[in-house]
Amino acid sequence: MFYDLHCHTGGISRCCKAPYDKIIDMAKEYGYEGMVITNHFTEVDLNEFGEEKFVEMYIEEYNKCRAYGEKVGINVLFGAEITVSYNIDVHLVIYGVTPQFLRDNPRLPLLSQKEIYEACHKYGCLLINAHPFRLGMTIQDVNYLDGVEVNCHAKFGDCHEKELTQFAKDHGLALTCGCDYHADTRKPTGGTYLPDNILTNTDLVNYLKTSDTFHIKVDDPVTLEVYEVVAKTRM
Ligand SMILES: [Zn+2]
Ligand SMILES: [Zn+2]
Repeated sequence: MFYDLHCHTGGISRCCKAPYDKIIDMAKEYGYEGMVITNHFTEVDLNEFGEEKFVEMYIEEYNKCRAYGEKVGINVLFGAEITVSYNIDVHLVIYGVTPQFLRDNPRLPLLSQKEIYEACHKYGCLLINAHPFRLGMTIQDVNYLDGVEVNCHAKFGDCHEKELTQFAKDHGLALTCGCDYHADTRKPTGGTYLPDNILTNTDLVNYLKTSDTFHIKVDDPVTLEVYEVVAKTRM
């Protein structure tokens, strides 16, 4: 099954230019069979709405996505993209998110990478460094990462596929790919191929944790080439 493992919806991610139903329709139109909603989860949101309210808004947006996905025939899973400030902004994508995980850990954007990683593992989630080589960002401590992401956001230039594939191999990490679609760039085409039996959040986590090989489709924002990579990253 072909998934977009990184996308946003306008109800939570204010930088996203379209509501959830348009985003899901677009994914369906462009051949995705599944997607993980990874809306922004930031300190600014927590301060603006209050922790409890923001977490409930966040869960509600996902529930709407999931229900709409069921209606139109696309499998929608629950993720998150946490913005943390460690001298520079760092974006960390979490897979396997549950309402309980967020309700018990509303202050994720204020935690260290190690604390986020430990919270994720306690709740059966995985931590992925989103677009680590994007301008102004750096890759985080590999001791507290489950994977790295090739990100095809059309506004940010090089997706660094080659360096990230090598990095995942060097460190035995999962390699993921997502479009980071915000409805303000050309249509999404990149993503990750998953086996047909990956249907739930738990399936996705188990697959990313244990698979030794990852199959991604890169939509290179610079060359505009679309190509596939099959990378064995674990011995
Ligand atoms: Zn990001
Ligand atoms: Zn994003």
